[in-house]
Amino acid sequence: MKHKGLLIVISGFSGAGKGTLVKKLTGEYEDYALSISMTTRDPRPGEEHGREYFFAEKEEFEEKIAKDGFIEYAGYCGNYYGTPKDYVLSMLEQGKNVILEIEIQGAMKVKEKFPEAVLLFVMTPSVGELKSRLIGRGTESEEVILKRLSRAAEEAVGIEDYDYVIVNDDLDTCVKELHELMKKSCEGIQESHHPSHYKELIENCRAELNALAKGEK
Ligand code: ADP
Ligand code: 5GP
Repeated sequence: MKHKGLLIVISGFSGAGKGTLVKKLTGEYEDYALSISMTTRDPRPGEEHGREYFFAEKEEFEEKIAKDGFIEYAGYCGNYYGTPKDYVLSMLEQGKNVILEIEIQGAMKVKEKFPEAVLLFVMTPSVGELKSRLIGRGTESEEVILKRLSRAAEEAVGIEDYDYVIVNDDLDTCVKELHELMKKSCEGIQESHHPSHYKELIENCRAELNALAKGEK
């Protein structure tokens, strides 16, 4: 099925800055529409229903699954997260580039259903930086942070399945880089951001995340 707009999937470890990056990108450029997911996790302070997420009880979420209301959904650290279908399809039809900020299982499901989608993985310059952003955000308990870092170790295995890697070091530079990459992507895959160019960073992150997950650090 071909659509007019580009379907963009953005994944990355918790705390890498995906939310921050996407907020700035959609704020600065009109070409994008951000899909708002449904989740069963509790809102963080400052988050609003219908803005960051549609917050729902498990029963409501499962009803929507039964009605085939999601493009994809997945379990993440004990909660459901899913992409409601209607908004995404209608925005693509209107020619908007639609961003899905979702985790890796969901990303792979989207790739199956929409082979033309562009998949992008956001990394930090180091695992130390990831950990300090996650702690610095101050929205999760130490237990949840550890769960998320351990999940990051699992997700690190799948980075090569993405079309692009982008490193969120300086935020403004990364936003510009991301926009340029998406513009060029319409003309075909851009080799410069292929995961094979980030081999060393990926390997280092994997090793450090595995050590963290095993409690060695
Ligand atoms: P994610 O959505 O990937 O879990 P967030 O967007 O919530 O991550 O960012 C995690 C934390 O890192 C936030 O406190 C955010 O302000 C901070 N952050 C995001 N991008 C950068 C950056 N480029 N440099 C420094 N801090 C950043
Ligand atoms: P958070 O709780 O930090 O907002 O999100 C946790 C993880 O869930 C992140 O990796 C985020 O990208 C992912 N996520 C958010 N919405 C969706 C969704 O609709 N589907 C899937 N599969 N993952 C999502």
